[in-house]
Amino acid sequence: MSAHYQLKPSIVRVLLPKPFHAPFDYFVPKESFVEVGHYVQVPFGKSLVWGVVWETNVLSTLPEHQIKEIRSISSLPPLSPAARKLLEWTARYTLAPLGSVLKMTISVPETLKESEKDFLSNAKSLDIKPSLLNHDQNFSATALKEAVAKKEFQPFLLEGVTGSGKTEVYFEGIKEAYGKGRQSLILVPEISLSAAWVDRFIDRFGITPTIWHSDITPAKKKKAWRSIVNGEASVIVGARSALFLPYQNLGYIVVDEEHDHSYKQETGVVYHARDVAVMRAQLEQCPIVLSSATPSLETLYNVQQGKYKHLILPERHGVSTLPSVTLVDMKKVKGDKVIKWISPPLKEAIQKTLDNNEQSLLFLNRRGYAPLLICHACGHHMECPNCTTWLVYHKASQMMQCHQCNYSHKLPSHCPECNHQGLSPCGPGVERIEEEIKTLFPNARLLIMTSDTLSSPKKTEASFKKIHGQEVDIIIGTQVMAKGHHFPFLTLVGVIDGDMSLGGGDLRAPEKTYQLLYQVGGRAGRQNLPGSVLIQTHTPEHPVMQAIQNYDHKRFLDLELESRSALKFPPFGKLAALIISGKDPSFLEKYVHEMARQIPHHEKVQVFGPAPAPLFKLHHWYRWRFLIKTEKEIGIQKVIKYWLDSLSIPSTLKITVDIDPYSFT
Ligand SMILES: [Zn+2]
Ligand SMILES: [Zn+2]
Repeated sequence: MSAHYQLKPSIVRVLLPKPFHAPFDYFVPKESFVEVGHYVQVPFGKSLVWGVVWETNVLSTLPEHQIKEIRSISSLPPLSPAARKLLEWTARYTLAPLGSVLKMTISVPETLKESEKDFLSNAKSLDIKPSLLNHDQNFSATALKEAVAKKEFQPFLLEGVTGSGKTEVYFEGIKEAYGKGRQSLILVPEISLSAAWVDRFIDRFGITPTIWHSDITPAKKKKAWRSIVNGEASVIVGARSALFLPYQNLGYIVVDEEHDHSYKQETGVVYHARDVAVMRAQLEQCPIVLSSATPSLETLYNVQQGKYKHLILPERHGVSTLPSVTLVDMKKVKGDKVIKWISPPLKEAIQKTLDNNEQSLLFLNRRGYAPLLICHACGHHMECPNCTTWLVYHKASQMMQCHQCNYSHKLPSHCPECNHQGLSPCGPGVERIEEEIKTLFPNARLLIMTSDTLSSPKKTEASFKKIHGQEVDIIIGTQVMAKGHHFPFLTLVGVIDGDMSLGGGDLRAPEKTYQLLYQVGGRAGRQNLPGSVLIQTHTPEHPVMQAIQNYDHKRFLDLELESRSALKFPPFGKLAALIISGKDPSFLEKYVHEMARQIPHHEKVQVFGPAPAPLFKLHHWYRWRFLIKTEKEIGIQKVIKYWLDSLSIPSTLKITVDIDPYSFT
């Protein structure tokens, strides 16, 4: 009998798309071969799960009988080293489990078990129209093309006023990347914006890009995922979740409207897509373009620090000019008994616009009729039973609705506290503005645009058609109206309550208000017709209002940077929030005070709280917050991890870590 040498089966570590921080050990089947990055299917609990090989040739500390064997190995190209590093960086940065981050990559696990034959490529070559760029556009486009050609990490800020032709400029980078056989990823803030973007793209390049967002059908999602992992998809346009897809050879990234707050994901893995995109570009060694008319303070700070290159488009493309901005001081028109929410100057401007057969947009970021119902006899406010919020009165449906948890209830005829008959609506919502406009301009044709009326892409499309076809005179809308759309006959924008987003303890409130007012104002006069913007405000002297009126973005940001620098707020220091929530309010309160006793002490770390969150009760859950502020050189993640590791967190409580918070509710 000859000596037979039996090699032990090798062991690998497989990361699973589940909320665990580390991968698990598995045997490689005999005569099989796996590499780091391969997609494999493994038994986990009672089911089979697709994961990614994270480490090979492992010496396991587990007894052999506890280690299971890989069931199947996908023939797809492995997850690239850059993509794996991105997942690890994101987990470290956000303190989320590595497996939860992987879940954003393996977002369509069904795709992995299907044979490649089901996915025949229908890749077409681009049929690119030549572009007509002006001098400034050309200068910026050349810089982008050169960076793409070199395939080096280089962040750019592409700044230009609304309508200055930023899209045309970053399209040039796509063309270059395509020519080199590399993938381009374009992140856009919202689905509504990507529809307009896609039309423009098709017009220019003659093909449909691969589209990725939460609302596409499962079949389309599978197809898109497959073409991305195969490297067949050359241009991908998507919402923030597109950032974690398994690209094969990413050569160019664009973050359109980089200042947009929807880039921040607030649930699950809490991350900011703009920041992760910059990291992805660095790991992929490719250029990234952050595009905006109102760049975020963080991005401008990076320009000042010399980290980002600044490309500026100073003029509006074509003949149109920026709309004029007028502030209407509401303190001065308050005495006028006739007015409710529309001031005399705004009323006059609407009349003039009607006379010219042009369109007006009235902006108020508040759905429903009134944000609050109050009893005049006893002062009782109608509150949501599940949340610490007021119920919004929707007059058309005679309902009271919670805009946080969607609780709704028929309007009661009597006060539930004192039985007084009738509750009074306080403050305006979109429905109330509609009511006033109907009495002021009975013959005008109105269109309401809110998330209530634009509940499907079809309805949105129909509304846009009406505006383009000039079947509408006055549009009354919320924030859904503020973005990206281009209406040639819209020449007047009236902002009902310019001060609305200025309140609260949010460090970004002035910046958010500036960006919002600028975006809304930018809807006015985008073609040959000059536009004007009227902003009703109680604080015309506020720096935000002054900056908007004079288009002085730079001065405004300098003031903001100064005040953040004095307080050591980001980008001059680091900030994180811990939100602890539970269903039993007294247990929760006891626990957060216990947590406070374990706060790590360090001279460069400050912890504020525990404090009840402004939104103390949300969907039956009670919430407390800590705010952690550190000096810039401190690893804030390490501080938090050290603190959390020292605690034993009861399973009835949820802890959310939010690094660099944008929401302070
Ligand atoms: Zn009452
Ligand atoms: Zn509620």
